[in-house]
Order: sequence, then structure tokens, then C-alpha cells
Amino acid sequence: MMREKLVLIGNGMAGIRTLEEIMKIDKDRFEITVFGEEPYPNYNRIMLSKVLQGDTSVDDIVLNDYVWYAENQIELHTGDPVVKVDTKKQVVYSENGIKRPYDKLIFATGSNPFMLPLPGADKEGVIAFRNIKDTETMIEAAKSYKKAAVIGGGLLGLEAARGLLNLNMEVDVIHISDYLMERQLDAQSGKMLRQELESQGMNFLLEKNTDSIVGNKRVEGLRFKDGTSIDADLVVMAVGIKPNIDLAKKSGLKAERAILVDDYMQTSAKNVYAVGECAEHRGIAYGLVAPLYEQGKVLAEHICAEEPSTVPGYQGSVVYTQLKVSGVDVFSAGKFVDGENTKAIRVHDEFEGVYKKVVVEGDKVVGAILFGDTSDSPRLLQMMRDGQDVSEMDKVAILPSEAEGGSKESPVVAMADSEIICGCNGVSKGAICSAITDQGLSTVEEVKQCTNASRSCGGCKPLVADLLELTTGAEVANAKEPMCGCTDHSHEEVVEQIRELGLSHRREVMNVLGWESDEGCSKCRPAINYYLKMVDPINNEDDHTSRFVNERLHANINHNGTFTVVPRMYGGVTNADQLRKIADVAEKYEVPLLKVTGGQRIDLFGVEKEDLPNVWEDLGMRSGSAYAKALRTVKTCVGEQFCRFGTQDSIGLGIELEKKFEYINTPHKVKMAVSACPRNCAESGIKDFGVVGVDGGWELYVGGNGGVDLRGGDLFVKVETKEEIIDTISAFMQYYRENARYLERTSHFIERVGLDHMKKVILEDEQGRKALIERMEVALSTGKDPWKEIVDSEEKKKELFEKKSVEV
Ligand SMILES: Cc1cc2nc3c(=O)[nH]c(=O)nc-3n(C[C@H](O)[C@H](O)[C@H](O)COP(=O)(O)OP(=O)(O)OC[C@H]3O[C@@H](n4cnc5c(N)ncnc54)[C@H](O)[C@@H]3O)c2cc1C
Ligand code: SF4
Repeated sequence: MMREKLVLIGNGMAGIRTLEEIMKIDKDRFEITVFGEEPYPNYNRIMLSKVLQGDTSVDDIVLNDYVWYAENQIELHTGDPVVKVDTKKQVVYSENGIKRPYDKLIFATGSNPFMLPLPGADKEGVIAFRNIKDTETMIEAAKSYKKAAVIGGGLLGLEAARGLLNLNMEVDVIHISDYLMERQLDAQSGKMLRQELESQGMNFLLEKNTDSIVGNKRVEGLRFKDGTSIDADLVVMAVGIKPNIDLAKKSGLKAERAILVDDYMQTSAKNVYAVGECAEHRGIAYGLVAPLYEQGKVLAEHICAEEPSTVPGYQGSVVYTQLKVSGVDVFSAGKFVDGENTKAIRVHDEFEGVYKKVVVEGDKVVGAILFGDTSDSPRLLQMMRDGQDVSEMDKVAILPSEAEGGSKESPVVAMADSEIICGCNGVSKGAICSAITDQGLSTVEEVKQCTNASRSCGGCKPLVADLLELTTGAEVANAKEPMCGCTDHSHEEVVEQIRELGLSHRREVMNVLGWESDEGCSKCRPAINYYLKMVDPINNEDDHTSRFVNERLHANINHNGTFTVVPRMYGGVTNADQLRKIADVAEKYEVPLLKVTGGQRIDLFGVEKEDLPNVWEDLGMRSGSAYAKALRTVKTCVGEQFCRFGTQDSIGLGIELEKKFEYINTPHKVKMAVSACPRNCAESGIKDFGVVGVDGGWELYVGGNGGVDLRGGDLFVKVETKEEIIDTISAFMQYYRENARYLERTSHFIERVGLDHMKKVILEDEQGRKALIERMEVALSTGKDPWKEIVDSEEKKKELFEKKSVEV
């Protein structure tokens, strides 16, 4: 049977949740095509704050990886926005020239950050905080610049400011109002929030109106309307969002602040719907995920219904906000401002730094602010959602946590089964408890995978953990960490089973160990692939389909869908022949940017995917593994060859190390450096393995990291010869390969197992060291240059790089 064609414009949180809801109802109903402007699969935008604050990584916030799209037969076009919609012929057109007819079309184009039109707003270093690119820009900027200014003291601005503080920047927050988060807090709680954040190191400039952004090419400061000014080399604007509706308007859809929709998310055009921040329902365009997910559910039910719906559609939502800054508990919902017809219960404990305000209108709770203790939030929210009559209730019953001698037990104990635990995803206590008992769940991660609870902002994780304890009676905190939501097994258990049972293929691992999904996910697939090859490098095949896209295509993907090619330059040394080839390739393929990197090589940015094999062939150089979980570079100082301080051959040792370990797979990327004297020009102190020439030999530093988690390397050993350095690195790296969890950097690994332990197994146990070196030699014997493998194989070129002609 011909399936109806469904096209989704916008690969973000609301759109993809709608598809998930549709597929829950009828998996095979539609032939689905998704267009996304950003070059990523669907990710959790909310968690960008946590990425900036260094609590998680971009890889970890992917909600639906590429495998999910493939498994569900969804045609995905990332980095390719839709530019035209013909609502009469029912066809969409993308920027890259793809044309898709539709039976049903969903707009889920989200919002754009609002940028104040100030003089100087176009200067380098002035950005918004909306997507992965903005987050990465801030993380990068913090490496070179020190003074940040955040314009906007709302939720987003404060989360950005906290992240920039974590990145060791000095942060000024500029806010136009006289207290923070005035859209969610009253003056009292706003003041308490300010005091708390000031104690964390933020500086506030309130009641300030920015006049202009000053500087030359890059921003250098801000000037205010009152004549004062501050210095700043990074400016983040967090002053609001505006629904992304240009395409909808161009396509003739009726729109005001956002695209107008009815209770079934139907727009003014036939068969065209809108959900998410780009939709306006009864005069409101929501900017939080909970209402957007409710809209997605309604739309899915409507679009899959055989008969016109008789049930009421979307009725609007009660929204709430929570600030995601560690150490600050803030909750705000509904109408929190006192009005003529409202009365409020207020509790202010200055000793404990707790403030609570519950606003009652008539016989109903209509709004609340909780600062310092948010344990009452799920119950208050439920009261508001249910419109519960509180006229007969004692004040203490409205705020039970304030009752004298109030119990310290978790608020989940007193909650009814119908009460919502996860506000973003609308998951009730009853639904979570049933999932825990029926499916035998034992970790928060499993509850997340099974019920969606805590899958968005993560604010309800403590409540989910309390429910697990309540339902299973087990100490959740002590539960082992499973590899991912597909399994109960930890990383260590999976490796042990691969060894013990002689498992040799990903599918075999998943079958034998009882994986819950047939194909695994973006966390377990690459990990298992790594472990299999680590355990038996000779016999176990690499499964390239389980690798992340960069590793699969042997180049780094850029935000616009092009790739970066980084050829190897051993020890950072090059010659005229290589430079000539790079120049020729750059001209022939119109490479937009050539850049010398901190790793001492030359990056060719902006190469088209289908050109990659030809670029590699024309370069005639080996892959620099700049994309791989493997040895990246060995940075060297010039050393004895030319430097007047150098007494050692740093370049020679660097080249030897790079040639030896160049294609060894490791749990995470590995960087090395060799400096010929303690002046340390190659920055050996912040590399996974850093070698420094000293009087009478070499010192080896391990576990250094120059990235987000800045860490100086630990002095591991001092030896006399190059051979001893190479052997020690070999044994250490093999131990790390065998015992670290996939995606664990050496810096974290050393902190987990301890430096003393590493000295014991590598330096004191001679037999053990020899055995490690032998196993490393076996693994090294399988290393191959991946570029050459592809250049030599027509089949691989076709499979991975040939431009697929898209049927229209
Ligand atoms: C840092 C940060 C923290 C946040 N914290 C919270 C929080 O704690 N709680 C909360 O509830 N909400 C939070 N939010 C808001 C929440 O992320 C958004 O409400 C939600 O992501 C909106 O979903 P959406 O699908 O409507 O839009 P988006 O997630 O923005 O997705 C829209 C997508 O459509 C794409 N697109 C646009 N035009 C086109 C086109 N023509 N063709 C193809 N693709 C197109 C865009 O590139 C984008 O990827 C936060 C937002 C940010 C930025
Ligand atoms: S580290 Fe020492 S030897 Fe190497 S370049 Fe710097 S000063 Fe010269």
C-alpha cells in the first residue's frame, strides 16, 4: 500500500517529538522526510546550558542519533533548510535543490534569538546562545579571551553567565530591569537570586541600557546610555527569541507573532500544521518544551486519526521554569505577581535563604515562586493544572514542607499517582512506578529510556531517583552505571563478557547480553565496536557503521555539512613538496580556508563530502586522524636542531612516536608533545603524554589536558633513553586501551584509577609491562592508513562518498 508522504521542516525538539508520537500510534503510516537547517541529528537544546557549564558533552545531548532515523526509515537532510513551500501543489524545495511532495506538512522551525539592533552588534565576538555552534564559539572564545558580558539577566542569560564563569571568564551581566528574571520572579526572590549568583562570582549591572558595542573588528567593550562603559571581548545577547516564521509567511500561511494554529495545530493552509516555538495558539507562542510536547501529542493523534476528531484538541498549557545553575534552586510558575483579586502565602526564612510565595485567586492556586527549596514544586504545579479548589485547605497543607517539624522525606511519597513528576515530558508518578515494577528498572537512565521522564531539562532526576528507591527499596546512588539505556551491563561487564565468551561481533554481543534494542544506540554501538577490536585486534573486524560520522568518513564534519581534511605532518615538520601539494589541492577544489592548527599541521576547511577521496589521492599524504579516537598529533619543539637551549632531539623523538602509534584505536583521542627542555615550547604539560628533555634524560608527564577540563599532566617517570620513553608510553597506552571506558580521556582515567596504581602496573611490574608492550605490538600491526584504504577501493568510495541522486 502506498504510504502517505509526511514532510517535517525543522529537525528540532518539537518536530521530532511529534514524529515519535506519530510512530507510537502507527509506525508505518507515513513515508517521512525531515529537513533540518542545523548539521546535526536531533539534540536536546535545553542541555546546551549544561554543555557550556562543562557538565556534559555535545555527543551526550543527542536525543535521536543518525541510526534512529535509519532504523525508522526516515529520510533526513541535515544542513539543508527548506527555502520554498508550494501549498497548492503540496511540494517543498530545499536550499540544496531537493524537491519533495507531501500529503501532510509540519512546520517546526522553532525560533531565532533576538539580537538587539545596536551599533556594533555585527562585530566579531558578539553572539547569541541558541545552538551548538554558539556554545562551541563560547567555549573556544574562553580559551583566548577573559572578559565576557552577557546582555540579559533572564533564565538564558544567567545560564550562559554561569557557563562562562566555569570557563574561567570574568562575567558581567547587564540587565535592563532593577532585578533579575523579572518575568519569573518577584523583587524579593530576584534579589535573593542576585546575592546567590554574586557569591558565585557573577557581577551585575542592573537598570543599564546598552547604547552601543565598541571595538575595531572584534568587540572591545559596551557603552551604556548613562555614559558609563565596560570592557568586554565576548558579548552574549540573551534578550529573547522571535519565532522563525519567514518561510511560513512567504508560503502564504497566516501568522502574527508566530504561525496561527487551531486546537489541532492546523494552520491556515490545507494539510499544513505547525508545532513548537514557531506556532501561535490562542495568542500564545510558547518558549518551553513542555507545552511543545503537548502540542506534538495532539497533532500526532489528529494526523493519524481515521475520522475527524471529536475530542477536544490542545487547550493551552500551564508553564513553569527552573534555572539550571548548580547550587541555585529556583522554580516559578503561572501568575506570580500580586493583583487586585489575589492573595498570597509567603514564607521567608533569611537564615536558610528560603523564600516561597503561593498566589491564590478565588479558590485556586494560580502561581508560585520557590527559592532555595523547590520540593513543593511538583505538587503546586499539579494543583494549578487541575484547578484544585483550595478554599477549604489549611495554609500548611498548601505548603506542607513548611509545617513545623515537617518530615524530611521525599515529596514523591505524598504525591498521588496522577501527579506529574517530569513536567517537560508530562510523565506522572503512576506511569514511572508502573514502568519500574513492570519492566524491572533499576536506574534513572533506564527510567529515562523507558518513560521519557528526565529526558529534557533533567530537573526531575532527583525525584525519579526517589521514586526508584521508594518502589524498589534499593539505594539508587550505589547502583552501577549501565553503558546506556539499551542494557543493564556496565562498560566493564561488557568487556569481561566479550573476553570470556569470545564474542566477536556487535550483534553477537547484543544478542548474548540481552540488549533491549536490536540496533543499539549512539552510545553503545561505537563503544562495543571499540571493545571488540581492542580485545582481539587481529580477528575482530571494525564495523564502520557503528562509528560516529567523522570517523566513518575520516574527516571532520563542519556546521555547514562540508568537511575538514587534515593530512599528517609527523612531528609538525613539513617540506616544500607537501606544501605545494596542499596549495594545488586548495586551488583545484576551491578550499575556502587553509589554517595552521595548534597541533602543528595544516587544515583544509570546507571540502565537499564527495570530493574527499579525490582530495586525499591528490594530496598523496596520510590521514592525520584529526577526527579519530586515536593518536592525533605529536607536537614538537625545534630542540637541538636549531634552538640554543635544546640539548635533545625533540623532533626526532616526536616523529618516531607519531609513526609508531599513528593508527592505534584508543578509548578517546590522545595527544602527545615532545619539548627538548623545561621551557616546554611544545606544551608537553597539557598532553595525554608529554615528554620533556632534562639533564641526563627525559621526563614523561601523563594525563594532561588542554581542553575544557584543563589539567596539568602528572610527572610519571624520568628515564635516560628514547627507547625507555617509547616503551613506557607503549605500556601505559595499552593499559589505558584495555581498562578505560570508551570516551574516557586519560585525564579522567588517571583520576579514577590513581597515579600510584598506574606506577605500580607500569613501572614496578616488569613482567606486566612486557606483556602490555607485546599486546600493543599486536594491535599496532593492524593499523592502516584509512585514506589509502578508501582511495584504493572503488566499492568503499561508492558506498561512503558517492553523491546519491535523489528521486523526486
Ligand atoms: C540554552 C537553552 C536552554 C534552554 N533551557 C530550557 C529549559 O530549561 N526548559 C525548557 O522547557 N526550555 C528550555 N529552552 C527552550 C527549548 O530548548 C525550546 O523551547 C525548544 O527547543 C523549542 O523546540 P522547537 O522544535 O520549537 O525549536 P528548535 O529546537 O529550535 O528546532 C527548530 C529547528 O528547525 C530548524 N529550522 C528552522 N528553519 C528551518 C528551515 N527553513 N528548514 C529546515 N530547518 C529549519 C532550526 O535550525 C532548528 O534546528 C532552552 C533553550 C536554550 C537555547
Ligand atoms: S623547549 Fe627548550 S629546546 Fe625546545 S624550543 Fe623551547 S627553549 Fe628550545
